[in-house]
Amino acid sequence: MPTRDALQRRGLMLILSSPSGAGKTTISHMLLNRDEDIRLSVSMTTRPMRVGEVEAKDYFFVSQDQFDRLVAEDEFYEWAHVFGHSYGTPKASIRAGLKAGQDFLFDIDWQGTQQLYQKDQQDVVRIFLLPPSIDELHQRLAGRATDSAEVINARMERARAEISHWDGYDYVVINDDVEECFTQVQQILAAERLRRARQTGLIGFVRELMKPAA
Ligand code: 5GP
Repeated sequence: MPTRDALQRRGLMLILSSPSGAGKTTISHMLLNRDEDIRLSVSMTTRPMRVGEVEAKDYFFVSQDQFDRLVAEDEFYEWAHVFGHSYGTPKASIRAGLKAGQDFLFDIDWQGTQQLYQKDQQDVVRIFLLPPSIDELHQRLAGRATDSAEVINARMERARAEISHWDGYDYVVINDDVEECFTQVQQILAAERLRRARQTGLIGFVRELMKPAA
């Protein structure tokens, strides 16, 4: 007889986006370190492996021919050319993981988010992080004392452009205090994991509950 703890569920694809300076990298690391059920999506690339990189951990490294074949077969959720090489999110490994209850984290921008969402609306959960104020963002982006006003202004401009895409997300969390922001992201994740459609083990469980008394 299935117990509550043994209920199977389908994994989800958690997208975390933010303008740089709003804490996306910190929150991503906290999630990956503290939540056993989620791991970072591993992309595929045609660029050569760098010293210290590990196959299937940093990337799946493939030839251009292999990459092009997968593009032709529609085997990427999204892909792009970056600095002369091809990069993409392969469907096969993620599909298998989702089915087995594995959650995946995507640290991608609004364009990647749109592409992923178009390919798989049911599995995607989109969270956007915002800075608490423009002054705070400026402080976080000011960075090293040696950075010129022009460099900092260019970063601010880029951040404003990224913020303008806030309405393409399911959830928006203001990152004022990093622990509180992380708690809110965890709460979103907890609720999304409980969605009926994701709890694939419910049918059998409920059937047992509804069995007439012997
Ligand atoms: P690197 O070669 O330094 O690891 O990554 C170069 C760039 O490729 C980074 O800007 C990174 O965000 C981007 N990139 C890595 N994986 C993917 C992917 O799966 N899809 C897309 N569109 N870009 C990626």
